[in-house]
Amino acid sequence: MFAPRRFADYTPASPCNLCGKREGTLVEIRDRHGAPLNVTCCRACGLTYVDPLPSAAELARFYAERYRREYKSAEAPRIKHVFRAGRVALERFRTVALLAQPPARVLDCGAGGGEFAYLLASRGYRLTGIEPNDGYREFARAEYGVDLRPGTLDDASFAAGGFDLITLFHVLEHFRDPRAGLAKLAAWLKPGGHLYVEVPNALTEVSSPSNLYHYAHLFYFAADPLTRLARAVGLVPLLVDGAPSKANLTAVFRRDGGTANDEPEPSAHARVVEANRRRTLRRYLLSGSTWANAASRLWARAQEKRAARAGLSGRATLDALYEKEAPRTGRGAL
Ligand SMILES: [Zn+2]
Repeated sequence: MFAPRRFADYTPASPCNLCGKREGTLVEIRDRHGAPLNVTCCRACGLTYVDPLPSAAELARFYAERYRREYKSAEAPRIKHVFRAGRVALERFRTVALLAQPPARVLDCGAGGGEFAYLLASRGYRLTGIEPNDGYREFARAEYGVDLRPGTLDDASFAAGGFDLITLFHVLEHFRDPRAGLAKLAAWLKPGGHLYVEVPNALTEVSSPSNLYHYAHLFYFAADPLTRLARAVGLVPLLVDGAPSKANLTAVFRRDGGTANDEPEPSAHARVVEANRRRTLRRYLLSGSTWANAASRLWARAQEKRAARAGLSGRATLDALYEKEAPRTGRGAL
């Protein structure tokens, strides 16, 4: 019986979503809980993915079971989570304000608890969201009055060319077919419209090695493979920040007319494999940034607890936060 070994050459069962090849290097053989999980980095282009990719039915079953288990006791987000997501929404709003001004039409794909959707809607953007999790979506609709649709990207359908901006925060890595997903989203953008993406950074040096890989994240992107994937569906990169000092990779693309099939960057595969070799628990624990991040997390958690103790509703919690940091009048504040 073939026993997988980390960093061994590997022939994946599933072809690469970017270049179609079936040749790779195993960068991980266990998920964050220690269960077997093969993660392969494509030798030709550096796109990194779980192999074999689960079927659509397997994935649907996984989400149904996981959500039953994890969300039974917390069907709606708690106030500390609302506050945390509100802080993140404010950071993302800085970028949004540069890309599109109200009353621009915005689609938030994977809207979660609706904190970001509410910020945009309250600032005059015409906001539509998609959120498959029933508890989170219904909470957001009731609490903030935002227009969130059920289901996943596969279920969604909008007129071509209708949106000025589409946001995709920690969603693309869940798609079984990210190329098809990006193509679908690109078609919904107006010519010149923007796609704003955030995914876990495949080259990160600041994330715990034991916490990186798991079953629901099917793809792991470094800047080069993500850019090539976007260009293949007619999206031109404006900003791609995948520095190893960041846990997340952030990118903004603009819808352009033509598609491009660039030659792969020869070093893309080696960079991902090397990042995985370097990502040891010892290095993580000895890193100064680990402790700086832990300190700022502790500070953030204390603020979240204070927000929860105030006993306000989700809406009042966000109103207080947003009024302070993103006033309704005067764009100069951002
Ligand atoms: Zn490839």
